[in-house]
Amino acid sequence: NLLPGGSRPYPMNDKSPLQIFVRAKKKINDIYGEIEEYVCETTTFIDKIHDEAEIVDKEERDLFKSYVEKVAGIRTVLQRDHMKVAFFGRTSNGKSSVINAMLREKILPSGIGHTTNCFCQVEGSNGDEAYLMTEGSDEHINVVNIKQLANALCQEKLCESSLVRIFWPRERCSLLRDDVVFVDSPGVDVSANLDDWIDNHCLNADVFVLVLNAESTMTRAEKQFFHTVSQKLSKPNIFILNNRWDASANEPECQESELAKVKSQHTERCIDFLTKELKVSNEKEAAERVFFVSARETLQARIEEAKGNPPHMGAIAEGFQMRYFEFQDFERKFEECISQSAVKTKFQQHSSRGKSVAGDMRSMLDNIYERITIFRNHKMDQKNMLTERIQGTETQMLQVTREMKTKIHNMVEEVEEKVSKALNE
Ligand code: GDP
Repeated sequence: NLLPGGSRPYPMNDKSPLQIFVRAKKKINDIYGEIEEYVCETTTFIDKIHDEAEIVDKEERDLFKSYVEKVAGIRTVLQRDHMKVAFFGRTSNGKSSVINAMLREKILPSGIGHTTNCFCQVEGSNGDEAYLMTEGSDEHINVVNIKQLANALCQEKLCESSLVRIFWPRERCSLLRDDVVFVDSPGVDVSANLDDWIDNHCLNADVFVLVLNAESTMTRAEKQFFHTVSQKLSKPNIFILNNRWDASANEPECQESELAKVKSQHTERCIDFLTKELKVSNEKEAAERVFFVSARETLQARIEEAKGNPPHMGAIAEGFQMRYFEFQDFERKFEECISQSAVKTKFQQHSSRGKSVAGDMRSMLDNIYERITIFRNHKMDQKNMLTERIQGTETQMLQVTREMKTKIHNMVEEVEEKVSKALNE
């Protein structure tokens, strides 16, 4: 079945590292489904005990009811949990182009005149319609094509730290289907409100991607932004993309040895930034986080691939294969990192909450069971005492009856004797 835009649903990729998150999400949702069942069942049982005997008091009953609400609340959050990646860098470094290349489709407007002047979040939607929502409004604004999306973004009077959510059919892209949410930011060079940005859009990001222009060096604004991020978050996961690497290869005078020298200088600076300045990773990790890519070329290659053509038809300059491979290598490492990080940050908390609810309920039930046992033993004692008393009374009665019988018998004999004596007289 063809989706709008003529593209086919993207095939499922079970080997993707994103499946770590997808499977963990399914598992934790299933477990919480079971916990919810137990909690509801237990609460009904506790209600019944409360109505029939005074073993469970109102406070305890209300506590059980609060667990039902707690578990339902966690289930709602769990269903909404996703992996979030946020892109930063100067205007025109290619943030929107990197997102489009990863999504394999030109979704976000890019290029001159389409400067992203607010935060744009791309997330998957069910169904086959694309639409956008602006902050503070529930209205679904239909998006038919990229031009219209660009116009809609321009027309809206948007503040730079506001958020526009773009919902794109999840079946059109494996990353969206696997619950990855992309956040594009206005250039770090245009804002003075970095703190607001971080507080509003970054605190729950699992991965940050710094998109640099490989033709120039990292600026103070770019560095400052990540300094602030790493002060607010402990050890953020940061990837650095030296984008527009095709342009360096296209330099008329640039020889291969020259290119290798520039690359190693950039690499060294990026690794130093991650290890010595931000102190967010060690040398080995940092070396796995720096890439030299061409987002524009990768996007073109993927659009060609979708048409059934070989990817190199999208090449811009010499060395396409290397850059394309490096982009794919980035994606694989990014997928591993984001899914592992999201499982930890999103689910660790839920599983320890689940454990504590289950633990609290268990000790409360143990307590109630103990009280029930004491209550039952007490009742048994009472029953035994009653039985003993009844048995005693029975023996007594039997004796009394026997005595009475003898007495009556004697009386009858006496009367008979008296009567016969009287008659004889
Ligand atoms: P943003 O402002 O950071 O989101 O940058 P855009 O993605 O809008 O890109 C700005 C311009 O740079 C656009 O015209 C892109 O086509 C172009 N561009 C982006 N990435 C590359 C690249 O890797 N190579 C080349 N040659 N151009 C690129």
